[in-house]
Amino acid sequence: MPELRIDLHTHTTASDGSFAPKDLAKAAKEAGLSAIAVCDHDTTAGVRETQMAGQELGLEVVPGVEISALYAGGTMHILGYYCDMENPGFQADLQCILDGRNNRNPRIIARLNELGMEISLEDVEREAGGGVLGRPHFARAMMKKGYIKTVQEAFDEYLASNGKAFVPKEVYPPQKCVEAIVAAGGTAVLAHPKQLRRKSQAEIEAVVDELMQYGLQGVEAIHGDCEPETAEVYDAMARKRGLLVTGGSDFHGISKPDIHLGRGRFDYKIPYAYLEALKERRAAASTTS
Ligand code: AMP
Ligand code: ZN
Ligand code: FE
Ligand code: FE
Repeated sequence: MPELRIDLHTHTTASDGSFAPKDLAKAAKEAGLSAIAVCDHDTTAGVRETQMAGQELGLEVVPGVEISALYAGGTMHILGYYCDMENPGFQADLQCILDGRNNRNPRIIARLNELGMEISLEDVEREAGGGVLGRPHFARAMMKKGYIKTVQEAFDEYLASNGKAFVPKEVYPPQKCVEAIVAAGGTAVLAHPKQLRRKSQAEIEAVVDELMQYGLQGVEAIHGDCEPETAEVYDAMARKRGLLVTGGSDFHGISKPDIHLGRGRFDYKIPYAYLEALKERRAAASTTS
């Protein structure tokens, strides 16, 4: 029997993915995946609909979220799997994080205006279509107006952390993000360690060690944008610490055209065994607590 393949990091139109939940489920099925996790930025709003579509198609859909943490110099995203989405405290935390995110948006617009671009918040909101607004929506609005040619160009010049129009989000520190996931019964996993932009592997490992003190349970060793050699380093980093290893493409649809669902940029095959290990860890924790 061929090995079952999965993707534990995907986005929908509930945040900055371009696939609506039901289209994501359909695409995952067509890509031959047996399970996906929906990990939208700071919201679980796309999970249920993807699960319902998945149920009809025979696709397992894991509830997930990708929480933005306050972090200098790079991006820290913490993935939360199997959080209780009905937990009011958890949804209140996500709302606080969304408020911090949304406070930033008019400030990015002001910067772009100062740089001579005629672009309004409404232009960007139109791109988001009611979903959580993220920088890829700014990039798409800039592209539509002809200020840049590709989403990547918008990031490189304006939106990345060293870009001319970058404004940081006022969100939670990492500890609070991990604790929010744990308090909602979820499993916290450090997303794409490479994007921490630390100078050395030792610095990345120090971040992981710190997060473990707050309840971190895993590392996303395989990430759609990360070279296989580096993924192996992250895999070893996780296993050395007894952490779970996870993997996902970070599929966003048209915002990242080179990142393929289930495969990323480097034709990854992510085994179902990763999800099985995650479930086993959860089951073991619930019988001992
Ligand atoms: P935001 O949620 O507004 O911070 O935007 C985060 C999203 O922007 C990420 O999930 C990526 O989709 C995209 N992104 C962040 N940094 C870059 C970059 N340097 N190049 C391309 N896309 C990026
Ligand atoms: Zn994104
Ligand atoms: Fe991310
Ligand atoms: Fe992501």
